[in-house]
Amino acid sequence: MFDYLIVGAGFAGSVLAERLAAGSDKKVLICDRRPHIGGNAYDFYNDEGILIHKYGPHIFHTNSKDVFDYLGKFTEWREYQHRVLASVDGMLVPMPINLDTINKLYGLNLTAFEVEDFFKKIAEPVEHIKTSEDVVVSKVGRELYEKFFKNYTRKQWDLDPSELDASVTARVPTRTNRDDRYFTDVYQAMPKNGYTKMFENILDHPNIKIMLNTDYREIANQIPYREMIYTGPVDSFFNYAYGKLPYRSLEFKHETHDTEQFQTAPVVNFPNEHAFTRITEFKYLTGQDHKKTSVVYEFPQAEGDPYYPIPRKENAELYAKYKALADAETDVHFVGRLATYKYYNMDQIVAQALTTYGKIAGMKRKAAAVFSQSKEEIKVPYVIPQNGNGKAIANF
Ligand code: FAD
Ligand code: UDP
Repeated sequence: MFDYLIVGAGFAGSVLAERLAAGSDKKVLICDRRPHIGGNAYDFYNDEGILIHKYGPHIFHTNSKDVFDYLGKFTEWREYQHRVLASVDGMLVPMPINLDTINKLYGLNLTAFEVEDFFKKIAEPVEHIKTSEDVVVSKVGRELYEKFFKNYTRKQWDLDPSELDASVTARVPTRTNRDDRYFTDVYQAMPKNGYTKMFENILDHPNIKIMLNTDYREIANQIPYREMIYTGPVDSFFNYAYGKLPYRSLEFKHETHDTEQFQTAPVVNFPNEHAFTRITEFKYLTGQDHKKTSVVYEFPQAEGDPYYPIPRKENAELYAKYKALADAETDVHFVGRLATYKYYNMDQIVAQALTTYGKIAGMKRKAAAVFSQSKEEIKVPYVIPQNGNGKAIANF
């Protein structure tokens, strides 16, 4: 008899498996319908021996010391500050838009003070910022919005920025200085030996059994367990009772080139040309030395694996109906990006999983003292760190 059946071996499922097994001595079965652990963060060495991310670039960044320290028990880190260039008007310019972006784009030589005035002059006042269009035009005006955001967003989401919540483009800030890092979080690093290795360490516990290539529906009625942790899409769990919850998908085109370097930045965004949104060159992320180099192109699409919840009002309303069903399930805990329909980064998912564990362990201890003594002190509640450019929560 297992105490927990955990559906999905991504960050949400794996962190909970580890906590329940190591922190509360529970017997855990974790299954994934994919042939590997790690969820969307899975990485592997391709035929040429280059470490690549199967489901697109995954860059770890967080303002949460607790999340960083927790994962640090399972991996060493390699410091890495992410940088992105955007292909606009035939040039490659820093993204997020900063002082150098403006000077290069317009052939100017403005200072940080002058560029602030420049933005003020071109910004369009928006009384209540509601949409992803409002966020950008209110800061940098329509022309820069159209060059950098409008078409990229339409490609990525198949929606106009005016149809998406402000939170989507608010992930990318505007700067008046020359800081060209994509993120400004306190902790920015990559797992030294890759994500999959880190997941192997997270799941390496005698109380944890792993079943790959297994949809939970194939085993849920045959293998006895007390409670479930579900990290798959929430609408699928309820057999689409209220209809499909929209998720955006991607097709990944991986290529290896017989050259040491393919492009001049880890990621190049293409807002206005091509059907793909961006190209990532993995060696920048991993620091690997290799004579060849591997890149991935991301082609957004409607059908396929669900990768992104789509933040907009009507979807939030539909999700609220599924959440009510989820809340009524007493023996199933819904955790993760797909199960809680949140456009969360990896660190936010780890925090969410640790919070869930805290609730489960606390609740259980109170109810019947069935949990054995925690091997480690777990602080609850965890605060979900904000997106890279939100408020810093360095210590909570
Ligand atoms: P997942 O990783 O999706 O894991 C859920 C697992 O459940 C999957 O493996 C799935 O196969 C399994 N599953 C679903 N249904 C079933 C079923 N019926 N039976 C069995 N198993 C099932 N975050 C960052 O912090 N930095 C980044 O740079 C970054 N880049 C990203 C780039 C892309 C292209 C994408 C799509 C996401 C990116 N993210 C990034 C977000 C990151 O991937 C997620 O925050 C994180 O992986 C979510 O973890 P999870 O466990 O909730 O979900
Ligand atoms: N975005 C854009 N142009 C860019 C980069 C981002 O319009 O060059 C918008 C787009 O809507 C995108 C969102 O900002 O989906 C968030 O970007 P981020 O790089 O955080 O996306 P992710 O890495 O999650 O795919």
